[in-house]
Amino acid sequence: AIVSLLAAQLPGDPCPGVVLVFHDVTDLRRLENIRQEFVSNVSHELKTPLTSIQAYAETLLSGAIDDPDHNRKFLKGIEEQATRLHALILDLLRISRIESGADTFEVSTVPLVETVELCIREHAAICNTKSIQLSMQTHTGEIYVLADPEGLQTILNNLIDNAINYTPSGGQVSVDWAVQNSMVSIKVKDTGIGIPKDHQKRVFERFYRVDKARSREMGGTGLGLSIVKHLAQEFGGEAEVNSEPGQGSTFTVRLPLAQNEKKLGFQKIQAA
Ligand code: ADP
Repeated sequence: AIVSLLAAQLPGDPCPGVVLVFHDVTDLRRLENIRQEFVSNVSHELKTPLTSIQAYAETLLSGAIDDPDHNRKFLKGIEEQATRLHALILDLLRISRIESGADTFEVSTVPLVETVELCIREHAAICNTKSIQLSMQTHTGEIYVLADPEGLQTILNNLIDNAINYTPSGGQVSVDWAVQNSMVSIKVKDTGIGIPKDHQKRVFERFYRVDKARSREMGGTGLGLSIVKHLAQEFGGEAEVNSEPGQGSTFTVRLPLAQNEKKLGFQKIQAA
């Protein structure tokens, strides 16, 4: 706490007094620490690919450019690191827009089944290359959730990307859903490496990774799950994980079911 000392004398009171004012700055300090940690994380995340790009470029300029065996490899390295920087900056912009409330969401009745089909199609090629079986539950009809169409795609794509990245070849990734009361539970399940219990709560934090090296190798930014959680909360839902190391993980996102809202059409809301 910070203490301010004020000399005070009430009108008509012959004795001067002293007023001590205690300001509780715990929350301010905590916010300042979070901000500092965020800036330090961002700087570190930007520095790593930039240092690699610099090293590749220097090696090329100091002669490797004339060596046909090496120049392609180094140029490929530059391209990969630049792609990583690009992904990181896009994720950072997204998270800062959501957190500052600058993002407006077109919350409408979004067709869940159609959106899952779209995201599955987008991942078909990579699953083929990695020999991962990607499937969605069989369904009889469309289900509508209350969300922003692009936001729902981001949620599904981030979860499917992770499921594929953290599942070895020969594994399975599936997407299914169930209606429970006025919510829809969407589950992205994999048979991958899993997440140890003590890490499970923290994986939704910005930049938190169980294995930093592995995440970077996969091109991860460390922001995917925090974006998922933020978006789910913006739409009035939530996100959670259940996992068994060595067995796989199930990420569940619950979103409000669109029932009567179907007739209302679009409703623009400001991120809280
Ligand atoms: P990243 O870009 O590192 O994947 P995320 O925010 O998407 O960042 O995920 C945070 C961390 O959670 C990952 O680095 C990884 O350690 C863990 N993780 C996320 N999804 C899975 C999964 N399906 N299986 C195992 N670990 C996962």
